[in-house]
Amino acid sequence: MLPYFELAYGNPGSLHFLGQEAMAALDKSREVFSRFLKCDFRQILFTSSATEVNNLALKGAVDKWRENNSGKPKIIVSGIEHESVLETARYLEKKGVETFYLPVNKDGEAEISVLEKEITPQTVLVSIIYANNEVGTLQNLTAISEIINGKRKEFGGDYPLFHSDAVQAFQFTECVPGELGLDLMTLSSHKIYGPKGAALLYARDLNLLEPLIYGGGQEFGLRSGTENIPAIVGFAKAAELVAAERQELIERISALSELFVEKLSREGVKFEINGLPLGNNKRIPGILNVCFPGKSAEELLTALDLNGLAASAGSACRSRSPEPSYVLEAMGLSGEKIKSSLRFSFGAQIVPKDIEDGVIILMKILKKP
Ligand code: PLP
Repeated sequence: MLPYFELAYGNPGSLHFLGQEAMAALDKSREVFSRFLKCDFRQILFTSSATEVNNLALKGAVDKWRENNSGKPKIIVSGIEHESVLETARYLEKKGVETFYLPVNKDGEAEISVLEKEITPQTVLVSIIYANNEVGTLQNLTAISEIINGKRKEFGGDYPLFHSDAVQAFQFTECVPGELGLDLMTLSSHKIYGPKGAALLYARDLNLLEPLIYGGGQEFGLRSGTENIPAIVGFAKAAELVAAERQELIERISALSELFVEKLSREGVKFEINGLPLGNNKRIPGILNVCFPGKSAEELLTALDLNGLAASAGSACRSRSPEPSYVLEAMGLSGEKIKSSLRFSFGAQIVPKDIEDGVIILMKILKKP
């Protein structure tokens, strides 16, 4: 990243040599992702964040649909999407879009049979998160895309489009939109140890979207504004590193989360894992949501923080708000259980000693009268 902060500081939109150096770096980064996503170079758009991508995917698809269709458009999003999808869906609802929030079962898996019934000829888009950020459940996107494809054939045309927020999945599984049956897919740099401030949208067909931001026509006309070259270069490098180490990461992080649960069990403390158990192949290993019956998550979080252990309740942005987790709510957990649940994340930098220290801290706090 460093050369693009200093020496090759040009604007990729400029025709002079400095600009062209920056453009070459941008092209190279796009190529890296086109290899991983097994797609065309021109199907990848860089933006500032996954939040922006999710806004663009939903709003952009609805706006484009409205250009060529009449009547009330409909979108379907799962009830356990990240706020960037849910809040965009709520905004669209205010703007006259019918919105259906797809329920999930107790493990956080989308109710596919309900989806099939809800898709109508007015349905513009279905958005289902690939790996959930609070409980780690992976959705069966291929099965969902088969249903969507069936409906498309029945209606004759491009709709509904299928979007997935794969931000939490890429670290642990290949995300190839063509194989998953996706038209739109979101990835974010800082969820794969890259710098903050870069993300991408995969779009099967750019003509199916209207931009969110208008201006100089960067990113094939769909996302104007000078590209953040250092962050994009770092994003592509992070993707290369994660992809090269994926199997090793899965094994290491699975072992860490299993060690954590094993140690908790050995301490004889009462706890329940929310969602799928560790080791299940329908979940990612890096996120563990645990209920400590009778304990207050808010009080635990404060005490853990004071003792140097960073955990959360809900997603990062929600953890500062006292609202209960809507993800656990959608999975049918009681209010009492939700208020006693914490989310632990296991990152690539963590070593077994951290787990041992973490459990000691946790025990000290849990065993306090
Ligand atoms: N989607 C999911 C599943 C996430 O976990 C996050 C990050 O918290 C986002 C989207 C938002 O990503 P960004 O911070 O790049 O906007």
